[in-house]
Amino acid sequence: MTSNELAGQVRSADEPTPPAAASAFLGSADGNAAYADAIDLARECLLESFATVEGPYAGTDHERLRERIDDLAVFPAEGEALSDTLETVADEVLADSVRVHDPGCVAHLHCPPAIPALAAAVLLSGTNQSMDSFDQAPAASVLEERVVDACCELFEYPAGADGVFTGGGTESNFLGLLLARDWYCETRFDRSVQTAGLGPAAGDLRVCCSEAAHFTAEQAAHHLGLGEDAVVTVPTDDDRRIDLAALDDTLERLEAAGRHPFAIVGTAGTTDFGSIDPLEGLADRAADRGLWLHVDAAYGGACAISDRLRPKLAGIDRADSIAVDFHKLFYQPISCGAFLLRDGDRYRFLERNAAYLNPERDDAAGVPNLVSKSTRTTRRFDALKPFVTFNALGRTGVADCVEYVCELADAVAAAIRAEPALELCCEPELSTVVFRYRPDRPAHSDDRTEPLPAAAIDRVNRAVRDELLADGEVLLARTTVDGAAALKFTLLNPRTTRSDLDAALAAVVDRGEALEREVIDSV
Ligand SMILES: *Cc1c(COP(=O)(O)O)cnc(C)c1O
Repeated sequence: MTSNELAGQVRSADEPTPPAAASAFLGSADGNAAYADAIDLARECLLESFATVEGPYAGTDHERLRERIDDLAVFPAEGEALSDTLETVADEVLADSVRVHDPGCVAHLHCPPAIPALAAAVLLSGTNQSMDSFDQAPAASVLEERVVDACCELFEYPAGADGVFTGGGTESNFLGLLLARDWYCETRFDRSVQTAGLGPAAGDLRVCCSEAAHFTAEQAAHHLGLGEDAVVTVPTDDDRRIDLAALDDTLERLEAAGRHPFAIVGTAGTTDFGSIDPLEGLADRAADRGLWLHVDAAYGGACAISDRLRPKLAGIDRADSIAVDFHKLFYQPISCGAFLLRDGDRYRFLERNAAYLNPERDDAAGVPNLVSKSTRTTRRFDALKPFVTFNALGRTGVADCVEYVCELADAVAAAIRAEPALELCCEPELSTVVFRYRPDRPAHSDDRTEPLPAAAIDRVNRAVRDELLADGEVLLARTTVDGAAALKFTLLNPRTTRSDLDAALAAVVDRGEALEREVIDSV
């Protein structure tokens, strides 16, 4: 039997026929039409949901949500019309989603996404390029390289700098400390951690950061096999910036004890306060002692886009690596972050060639090889989102948004200072305002004989935030400042106005007054 005969026979006997569900894929006229319908439906569903509900959140609690969502089918045997499923999603999910574009949604570093980025998200999910090899993402790989280069220029990195898009600050901080550790072990101990593991010095490796640094420094130390205790935190000054004299003492003490501090993590925009460490001072210390400086600019990195705010980042160009998040103050839909490396040659510590993805002969030919710059393999083309956004709004358009929310923070801080029922916990540096309701304010406590215990003040503040969330009126964040409960605005939305925030402050004071009566009666 010839191979033609064989092929003919197989085909006629039991040729697999495409399933009915093949019509749910792009690639034919009916698929393309189904795609257009599906995207239209999704868009209508979203806009209708935005139009019908007011405020940042409906206020439904987690128990009620579990009851309702537990009733939904996940793997039904047979499908239904997409419009029916989307209707269910609208009722059960969208209606109880946080509306990040609402002016009262002022809790977290959780931004309203810019519309151009949402258009980009449609394109990147529709084309589904995968950044782990050139042959799965040809133009996307080259564009990501281009966007990374532009970011390196934005932070005034020299030629030879490199980087990669990440899922956010967590991954970027991990990458920074991973390269720092491996670089240090190679330069100090002539040891390749990639091939030989950590070796005998593992227990002595240390990272220094301020006590206001993000928890991901400790998380990274854990994941890197160093343990969270390898992170030594240094006190901050009154403005919540790392205290350089205390850092010097810490580094000296560690070295005298035979430890190996290998990296300093500076923060440009702490999550709680927006404070920015003195980066020049950190760069001097890293240079003097031969340490790696990683700057976590997940939040404050956005200052680089503004001529007015950029001076706040002075010295960041001297960092060995930088984490910057686009899904915070850069208005991109989640996930979107970047890791930047001052000396791209140091990527050698991550080098990996897989025959099926990026054989070495491709490297020699200069084929983009992004998988060797990342801790991930399959990865989305998230670089398209800032590319489209910056082109659509211009550098100035984005900078205006960043500057505006910082100005708004200053204005709201002034309003808090002027309100006796409120106390400002820290001067804003970026767009975060941390404050507290004061049931213990002087004029107010005249009729009280005993001072109000700190625990009662904390209880009132926590209850204010919980009740405003439950009513869906204002979505405030909570934190602690030197052990005491505090409230927080994180301003990102360029549509939020001063009067929205005055209303939010009035709501805090109203709630506080109602709650303090209950709390005071109970102490
Ligand atoms: C948000 C944040 C992180 C964590 O980043 P993700 O994008 O959430 O992974 C790290 N550091 C700082 C300072 C942050 O604000």
